[in-house]
Amino acid sequence: MAKPVILAVDDDREVLAAVARDLRRQYADRYRIVTASSGAEALETARVIQQRAEAIALFLVDQRMPGMTGIQLLAEARKLHPEAVRMLLTAYADTNAAIAAINEVGLHHYLMKPWDPPEMKLYPVLDDLLAAWSARVRLPFEGIRIVGSRWSPQSYATRDFLARNQVPYQWIDIEADPATRDMVQSLAGESPRLPVVMFPDGSHLIAPGNAELAGKVGLQAQATRPFYDLVIIGGGPAGLANAVYAASEGLRVVLIEQHAPGGQAGTSSMIENYLGFPGGVTGADLAQRAVAQARRFGAEMLVGQPVAGLRREDPYRIVTLDNGHEVSCHALVLATGMAVRELDVPGVAPLVGSGVYYGAALSEAALHRGQDVAIVGGANSAGQAALYFSRYARNVTMLVRAPSLSPKMSRYLVDRIGATANIQVVTGTELSEVCGKDHLERIVLRDAENGGSRPLDVGALFVFIGVAPRTEGFAGFVELDPSGFILTGPDLPRGKRAWPLERDPLMFETSVPGVFAAGDVRSGANRRIASAVGEGSAAIYSVHQYLQTV
Ligand SMILES: Cc1cc2nc3c(=O)[nH]c(=O)nc-3n(C[C@H](O)[C@H](O)[C@H](O)COP(=O)(O)OP(=O)(O)OC[C@H]3O[C@@H](n4cnc5c(N)ncnc54)[C@H](O)[C@@H]3O)c2cc1C
Repeated sequence: MAKPVILAVDDDREVLAAVARDLRRQYADRYRIVTASSGAEALETARVIQQRAEAIALFLVDQRMPGMTGIQLLAEARKLHPEAVRMLLTAYADTNAAIAAINEVGLHHYLMKPWDPPEMKLYPVLDDLLAAWSARVRLPFEGIRIVGSRWSPQSYATRDFLARNQVPYQWIDIEADPATRDMVQSLAGESPRLPVVMFPDGSHLIAPGNAELAGKVGLQAQATRPFYDLVIIGGGPAGLANAVYAASEGLRVVLIEQHAPGGQAGTSSMIENYLGFPGGVTGADLAQRAVAQARRFGAEMLVGQPVAGLRREDPYRIVTLDNGHEVSCHALVLATGMAVRELDVPGVAPLVGSGVYYGAALSEAALHRGQDVAIVGGANSAGQAALYFSRYARNVTMLVRAPSLSPKMSRYLVDRIGATANIQVVTGTELSEVCGKDHLERIVLRDAENGGSRPLDVGALFVFIGVAPRTEGFAGFVELDPSGFILTGPDLPRGKRAWPLERDPLMFETSVPGVFAAGDVRSGANRRIASAVGEGSAAIYSVHQYLQTV
């Protein structure tokens, strides 16, 4: 596999030579360092690299160049290599231009000249940006191959599971690759169940479940102990923050996640309001950082493992996994968040995973390159997704029931959507039907005012119509509010059934002593990433208080 490229661009040959020297010293073993002395030369190089299906990891571009400024170059380069890190080399006088470029060209960082010593001023920044890039970009490589049908829901589920757990793979559409079809038929029979996942050691799995796949690709799927001080259910921001604090304070802790760490936040294509990331951060990047941090402190993290039931055998709390295994603990944190609501429209159910996707489904974006796609919903998550898909799709149609976007969507997103030529916002409109034989072909829109219908051909439909708490499995174990969210602390109704002890419930404690809830799933939570992180972190204080009593 060709190494990904770092492309350095500067018209000053001395500066260019110095940048290239510093880059080679640190990165030549993993990246190919390529230089260009003008914007035009850089674009030509970027085009050739794209044609060879190779990747550019980083553009490091001087702002002041004759003919084309660094920002203009980055705007063009972004069209060719949208995933590459964009970094501007600036003089002090260019600071304002660089700040403006954060929005204009999605600039990831600007570096003030001179950057000496590189060990302090250049390498730490690049290490961080390149680590994030390699986590989010899938390179062609000799690794895991998923062979399936583009329109099979199980093939989508497998791709989504590996992508969200940041396991790289190559996707092969069996319908477009007869040679692979023959090979798969020889392994798995004439009409194989799909997908077939093939591993570099020559082994394969046929239509595996998440837990089986997790174990095979080296993700932790089994708890190493029978007992922990603390078990956390749910690996969204609340659960991850809880795990970081618990492990850093010396508790034996395991986090159990049914799908992939990151939760709802992990599906966000760009989070722009999380403290400390002025250029935004992708959900995948944030999740990867949090997982690394929790593991560094010694937290265990099981993925692909849904929790099926909870029970108490005082002083123990017992968690039963879907596969029948049990883990016991003294304290339990429920951080199961929310799930996207299902769309109740004729034709949807059989096409879920075959063109209709709930939530962001970021792994699908590249498969719909150059096609028309639609998004249902008018809140922030729909807006983020529209911007993300607009980088791949030919046209993105946003279907919004309300007469305008603004009441539910943050201003910065409304403005950016307004400035994106290939996003059309259709307001006052509902989805009335979804059509397609074995994959989505068309949707039917209904005007909310006059009832008139019109069809729209689309290759994919992404649904963002709100969320509901994930507490089905805990009803009857902990007290819920009428909407299904978990009641905690002072919100618990007093009375024998709701709270059984003499002492008051602790902050975040549910109706079962020693069982806590944090994040979106908690009644009264302010459903944002920072709030979930805050609740997950703060709940550890109550966990410690409780552990002193058992
Ligand atoms: C697309 C999108 C974009 C968003 N963008 C922003 C933004 O820009 N800024 C912002 O502040 N907020 C944003 N939000 C909201 C934010 O993501 C949520 O408020 C936050 O993720 C809540 O965190 P949480 O940990 O409470 O729950 P979640 O993120 O919902 O995580 C819960 C986790 O629990 C797991 N789980 C559930 N049940 C079980 C079970 N039985 N067994 C095992 N695991 C289980 C789930 O798989 C999930 O991973 C966005 C939401 C979405 C959907």
